[in-house]
Amino acid sequence: MTPVDERALPAPDGSTGLDPDDWDSFRSLAHRVVDDLVDHLATRRDQPVWRPMPDDVRASFDSPLPRAAAGAAEAYAAVSERVVPYSMGNDHPRFWGWYMGAGNPVGNLADLVASVLNPNLGGADHAPVLVEQQVVRWCAEAAGYPTSASGLLVGGASEANMVGLAVARSARIGPSLRQVGLPRDRRFAVYASSEVHSCHRKSCELLGFGASALRTVPVRADFTLDVDAVAAAIAADRAAGIEPLAVVASAGTVNTGAVDDLEAVADLCEREHLWFHVDGAIGGFLALSGSGDAVRGIERADSVALDLHKWMQAPIDVGLVLVRHEPDHRQAFSVVPDYLAHAQRGIAAGEVWFSEYGLALSRGFRALRVWMAFTAYGADAFGAVMDRTTAQAHRLAGLVDDHPEVERLAPVGCDIVCLRYTAPGLDDAALDAVNHEVVIRVQESGVAIVTDTVLRGVVAVRVAIGNHRTRDDDLDLFLAELVRHGRDVVAGLTTSPASAPSAGGTATDRS
Ligand SMILES: *Cc1c(COP(=O)(O)O)cnc(C)c1O
Repeated sequence: MTPVDERALPAPDGSTGLDPDDWDSFRSLAHRVVDDLVDHLATRRDQPVWRPMPDDVRASFDSPLPRAAAGAAEAYAAVSERVVPYSMGNDHPRFWGWYMGAGNPVGNLADLVASVLNPNLGGADHAPVLVEQQVVRWCAEAAGYPTSASGLLVGGASEANMVGLAVARSARIGPSLRQVGLPRDRRFAVYASSEVHSCHRKSCELLGFGASALRTVPVRADFTLDVDAVAAAIAADRAAGIEPLAVVASAGTVNTGAVDDLEAVADLCEREHLWFHVDGAIGGFLALSGSGDAVRGIERADSVALDLHKWMQAPIDVGLVLVRHEPDHRQAFSVVPDYLAHAQRGIAAGEVWFSEYGLALSRGFRALRVWMAFTAYGADAFGAVMDRTTAQAHRLAGLVDDHPEVERLAPVGCDIVCLRYTAPGLDDAALDAVNHEVVIRVQESGVAIVTDTVLRGVVAVRVAIGNHRTRDDDLDLFLAELVRHGRDVVAGLTTSPASAPSAGGTATDRS
C-alpha cells in the first residue's frame, strides 16, 4: 500500500485556490485510493453483497456542515470506513435486484479522466463533443438503428423516454406548442402495455397530457403488448374526440423482460400515423447478441430510449435517446441565446451543440465511459454478456421448473426470471407474505440481492441478472438459499404464528 503523509494533506485555506500545496503528497493519496478500489473490485466476490448500516454509521451522516478543513486524507478515510462497506452492492456478482448493471473497470477509469478534465458537453469545439457524437453513432449501430439519427446522452432511460415523447409532442403540435403551450381544445393519448415502466406515467404528467393520457393496454399470456387491443383503444379514443399521439413498445419490460412485437407496433403506427417510440432500457441493444431477431422492427421507430448502465454495464448514470429525424429533435428543444451563439472559428465553433437537444446546458463527460468501454472491450463483448446472462436465466428457470418447492411465474424475458417459493396448504396471500419475507432474509444475509414485484396479483421474486460478473454457481447458491429461507419462514408460520411475517397474515388465520 502506498504510504501517505497525512500531515501534508490539509485542505488549503482557500487563499491559493483548492489545489494541494504539495502535489507529491496528493499523488500518494491518489495512488492509495486507486489501490484500495482495485483491491475492492478484485475481492468483491468474498464480501457480502449488501449489509444493513449500524446506527452509528447512519447517525454520522447527520453531522452539520464542516466549516473548517479536515484534509483530503481524512475525508477519504471517512469514505472508506462509512461509505464503501455500505454501498448498494450492485458491483457484486450476486446482485440481481430491480434491473441494474454491475459497472466495469474500464468505465471506472474513464470516469476519473472525465472528472479531471471536467469538460462541459453542452457544446463548443473540443474533442469530448466528438467523443459523444461518436458514442451516439456507435450506439445507434449497436442497437440496429439508423446511424443518421440524432442522439443525446442523458442520465438514464427515464429521461431518454421523456425526451422521445417530448419530441413526439412537438412534432405533432408544431411551433405553437413552444409559444403558447398545449392547445386547450385537444386531448392526446399515448398507448403502452400494462407492463410499461412507471417513467412513462411521469412523462405524461410532466408533458402536460396528464397521467390518464397513458392508456395501459392488456398484455398477452407472455406479458407482451396485445397490439390488437391497442388498435381497439385507438379507435375508441378517436371516436371520443381524443387524438392518439404515440405508441410506446417495450424492448424488455421491467417485470419480466418481455419484448413487445416491434414490427407489429411499427405497422400499426404507420397505418394510424402515430409516433412509434421504443423503450429499450433493458433490451434495446439485443441486436448485438444472439437474440437480435427479438428486436426486429426497432429500426422503424421514430425515437428509441436506451440505457447504457443496465445490460451494457456502464457505470451509472448514462442513458441515450435516439431520434430518427434530427430536425424534429432540435425543434423540440433548441434555444440559442446571444451568449451561446455558435461561432465559425475559435472555441465557440463546433458542429453539434448538445444543449439544443435536451433540457441540460451544462453536461458532464458521460460519453467517455461508454467510448472507452466500447474501445477496450469491443462491442461484441457486450453481446456476449447478454448471451451469457440470458443463458444463465434459462438455466435458472430450468432448475426452478425441476424443483418441487419453487415455481416459475413468467416466461424468461431477456435475462429476468420470476419465481416464488411454495409450500403445500398455503394460499396466495400466505405465499405473498412468505416470499416477501424470504426476499428480505436473502438480502439481509448478504448472500445475494433480489427484489420482488407483483405479477397477475401475486408476489414474485425477480432475479434480474444483468450482471457480467455472475457465474452459474452464484445462481445455484441463490436458489439453495431461497429454499432454505423459504423452509424456515414456512416453519415459523406453523410453529409460532405470532412471529410470522405481517404483510399477508399467517397460514393458519387464512386457511
Ligand atoms: C430502468 C427502466 C427505465 C428507467 O430507466 P432509468 O435509467 O432507471 O431512468 C425505463 N424503462 C424500463 C423498461 C426500464 O427497465
